[in-house]
Amino acid sequence: MLTTAIFPGRYVQGEGALAALGEEVARFGSRAFAVMDPFAMDTLRPRIEAGLGEAIALTAERFGGECSDEEIARLAEAASAADVIVGIGGGKALDTAKAVAHGLRRPVAIVPTIASTDAPCSALSVIYTPEGAFKRYLVLPHNPAVVLVDTGVIARAPVRFLVAGMGDALSTWFEAEDCRVKRGANMTGRLGPMTAYALARLCYDTLLQYGVLAKAACAQQVVTPALEHVVEANTLLSGLGFESGGLAAAHAIHNGLTVLDETHDYWHGEKVAIGTLALLMLADRPPALIDEVFGFCERVGLPTTLAAIGLGGVDDAALMRVAERACAEGETIWNTPHEVSPRRVVAALRAVDAEGTRRAKATPRAAE
Ligand SMILES: [Zn+2]
Repeated sequence: MLTTAIFPGRYVQGEGALAALGEEVARFGSRAFAVMDPFAMDTLRPRIEAGLGEAIALTAERFGGECSDEEIARLAEAASAADVIVGIGGGKALDTAKAVAHGLRRPVAIVPTIASTDAPCSALSVIYTPEGAFKRYLVLPHNPAVVLVDTGVIARAPVRFLVAGMGDALSTWFEAEDCRVKRGANMTGRLGPMTAYALARLCYDTLLQYGVLAKAACAQQVVTPALEHVVEANTLLSGLGFESGGLAAAHAIHNGLTVLDETHDYWHGEKVAIGTLALLMLADRPPALIDEVFGFCERVGLPTTLAAIGLGGVDDAALMRVAERACAEGETIWNTPHEVSPRRVVAALRAVDAEGTRRAKATPRAAE
């Protein structure tokens, strides 16, 4: 069977990286069209223009807030004369820029302003209705040509973004490992190469080593080596790990959790953290490893109980709806190298909740 890995063309990261945007974009032409979310438009535009320099002519449009077919069509029309599309902002603005570039057959440069998910590097856009309901995945023929992350910008974003990104990145190695053992497909539909599994492991090790220090740096709005390492883990290693290593139970359980309205105020990475803990229970991972992951979540402030994602007092019928969605046909949970059923998923979620609650009671400070 073939193995396949996919990568962004270039990955640039560091404090002040915005100043290098012009140099990166100039490889593709002199006319840039930027999709900027309101935060980027209002606070970063002068720095973006300075970074692009005299040689690049910039047209910028404010992102309307939803990565919908309508918004993509609107922006594509405005961008038709551009040589290169630039997406600047959070996940939905970036996904929209990717889709606009794809429709126009232009290269895209991605500039995340938060490190809350591993989406920036991926060859995927999630399309919603104008009202914000999930519509479909748009699988793109290639990854962004450039991903440029200014860690000075990331450091000034609210710390909850960085922590949620760690939750998303926390799942990467466990899901890739399940795919490796089960010989499950990655996002290309083929097996991952050993490179992807090794990068996924580096992602986990980096979080464990530097997660707490990175959070402290972000809380102070300063860039430190630890913050740089975790931003790279959240954005690049997790992105490469999930696309080329593959997904398994953690993201399937995340998808299941989204069926309950009570979880909607909680972010992707926060729900993925619960999905990751449930994966460990479901796949019978060693207790010492489970203890390690709970400890990490407690130290950085990721949820370890159902109450922490809005599901305090949730009944079994609701959890069964979560589990049935997680176990839908074609879901990545079937990459789990262990017995899987909706009943087993409910049991795993209950086991996570019981253990998270027990630990919080045993060492109240751990749950702060
Ligand atoms: Zn994710």
